[in-house]
Order: sequence, then C-alpha cells, then structure tokens
Amino acid sequence: MDVMSTANIPLDVEGAIDHLMNFLSVEGVTGEEAAIAAAVSEALKKAGVPASAIRFDDANTRIPVPTQTGNLIVDLPGTKPGPRLMFSTHLDTVPLCAGAKPKREGDRIVSDGTTALGGDARTGVALLVVLAETLIKHKLPHPPITLLFTVREESGLHGARELNPAELGGPVMCINVDGQLASELIIGAVGQENWEVEIKGKASHAGVAPDKGISATLVGALGLAEAKRTGWFGKVVKGDEFGTSNIGIFGGKNGKPAGDATNVVTDYAFLKGEARSPELSFATKIVDGYEAAFAKAKAEVTDHEGETAEVTFRRAAAYPPFKLADDALVVKRATKALELLGIKPTYLFSNGGLDANWLDKAGIPTITIGAGQAEIHTIKEYVKLDEYEKGCRLGILMATLED
Ligand SMILES: [Zn+2]
Repeated sequence: MDVMSTANIPLDVEGAIDHLMNFLSVEGVTGEEAAIAAAVSEALKKAGVPASAIRFDDANTRIPVPTQTGNLIVDLPGTKPGPRLMFSTHLDTVPLCAGAKPKREGDRIVSDGTTALGGDARTGVALLVVLAETLIKHKLPHPPITLLFTVREESGLHGARELNPAELGGPVMCINVDGQLASELIIGAVGQENWEVEIKGKASHAGVAPDKGISATLVGALGLAEAKRTGWFGKVVKGDEFGTSNIGIFGGKNGKPAGDATNVVTDYAFLKGEARSPELSFATKIVDGYEAAFAKAKAEVTDHEGETAEVTFRRAAAYPPFKLADDALVVKRATKALELLGIKPTYLFSNGGLDANWLDKAGIPTITIGAGQAEIHTIKEYVKLDEYEKGCRLGILMATLED
C-alpha cells in the first residue's frame, strides 16, 4: 500500500485506545516514572521491539531533585535508508493526576472528577508505542527512528535538559508529542528566567517603637509596586520587545508567612517570581527591572537612624526560547502530513516551555504536535479521542513519508 499518496494508514484505532487507557491507569507523577517506563517497555516488547533496543540514560543522576529513572530511549532500526527521525514525549504527569481512574465516556476519556487524568502526556506515550507497533506489524518502510520518553518534564523540563544528545543516534529532526489538537503545530516557545529576593529587615515593637524597625514586608510591597509602575509587571511591552512576568511567592522563611504577629515590624520576607519572553535577553531585561525596583524600595524604607534592609536579589535562567525556521524540514514534513490527512495546519508559538526548547537547543529542530490532551492540569482534564486518533495517524505519516 502506498501510505504517502493515499494517507490510508493501517491504524488499529481500538488497539490504540487500549494502549492509552492502559498508560493512563499507571501512576507516574513527576520524578516517579519507574512504573510507567516499565509499562512502556513491556508494551514495546510485545509489539516486537527487541529488549536490547530499549534502554535508560543516566540523566536522573544529573537532575538536582530525586528522580527514579533516566530518560527511556528506544532505537527502531530503519527498514529503508534515510536520515534518522526522533519522536519524543514525556512520561511524567502533574501531581494532580495521582490515583487517576480513566474511563471512557462517549468520544472522550475522563477521570472520575477527583483527579486530573494525565492525557498530558500519556497521549504522547501511547502514540509513540502505537507508532512502533504499527510500523512493525505492517512492515511499513521507514528510516531509522529514535523514540525518546523523558522524565520530569512537568517539574522543570529536567529530563530533556540533562540528556546527552550523543545518545540519540543523530536524528535530523524531532516530533515531540505534547500538544492538544492534531491541527496545531507548535513551532516555537518562550524562554524563561526566574528571580527571587530575600529581604532582611529589623524587628521592633510596632506599637512602642515602629520607627526603630525596618519592615521587610514593606520593602517587598514597594518593590512590587515600583516594578508595576515602571512597566515590568504582568504583560510587558517595551518598544518592539515583549514578554510577561509574575510574582509567585511572597512569604517568609521555610514557606511560612512573612511575619507572624501584627505588633512586630516584619524582619524577613522572601519573594519569588519569573519572566518570560521569545527573546531571552528581554526576559533578562524584565528581571533587571525587578532588581532595580527592589533596590529603589530598599532605599525608601529606613529606621530612625537611616539604616536600610539587607536585600539579596538572585536570578537563574530556567530554559532558552526557540523558534523553528519557516522552511525547517520538520515544519515542512508536518505540514505535508497534515495536508495528506486533509487537516489545515495552524502554527503556534507557546508561552510556556516544552521539552522542545531543550531538544532544539541540543541542535535537533523539534516540532510539537497534538494528540487529544484537553483541560490539562485540572480535574476536568479529558482526552478527545478523535484528536488522539488523528494524532496517531499524523505520527505514522510523519515516520513513513518520502523525503
Ligand atoms: Zn506535557
């Protein structure tokens, strides 16, 4: 059968849904991916992938938070020559998915309403397994393929960040499955820089001698007000540059509130936030704006002797932005496959980081496709089965298209 010209893809739809139901029922919140990795290995072996082609890398030894396993990497030797392709997705789910009980309801898979579902990214996990199974079962001609199942995506893109690109076999492009609709191709994403500020003020009795204290809470509040006033808070636009920022945490030591009594001038506050932009240099500029704002706030709050708080500002790059070229081969391939499926593509730029950010940084142009995730990270999460089916067809086509 000529897969390319007819788009008549030999997909066992019920079998594909069975795989998805199975993977959704295996718990695997971020950092605890051992069980789902085992389930995936099992399914791949059943589909005819030799055990020797399935292995874990050692990325987890470099991830700074406890992580049960490395990334799962699978090699599918080509049945025809050609540049190597890679398909990727992430094994982990957000903690809200713990204990999820998937059930089929019409054209959807839903949870019981007490947890999220985990279609993010088990739709991708199932799609990669269905891809391997379909290629093998129907002996479809394809170039060498690497399957990459990453760990700890949800808690900071750690698995993709810490992987060693040399272990991937040299793919020329990657199709990452972690999106919603099959028609939506994610071709770029913002980068992010995080910031935090520690403010050490001076305690004093708020009724007897408020002038002898230095309120750390006030310094924090004035700093945020200044950041807002100077245009660095929320949606940020300066000339033709743009980005976003947020204050996420405003508290005290060890997750406690800033201060613990109304009659004491607060001597300690801790604030933590982020900045995002398609240009990392602009995310850095936003963080510069916060740093200047807290410096100004520090000077404004003094005790009776003119002393100020001690303000320590720290910043850390979270992930780099990326944007695929319009004529990138992976964009062309995805566009062509969607056209064969009769689906009109839309091209999206994501306001959040994806594994694709790090894969692209590693030199592998990566597009992210969708396979039915919906209302992710909420207890209303569900999988749209028609989109999952389209995503599976899209994946198989992208693996088998002539160049
Ligand atoms: Zn995801």
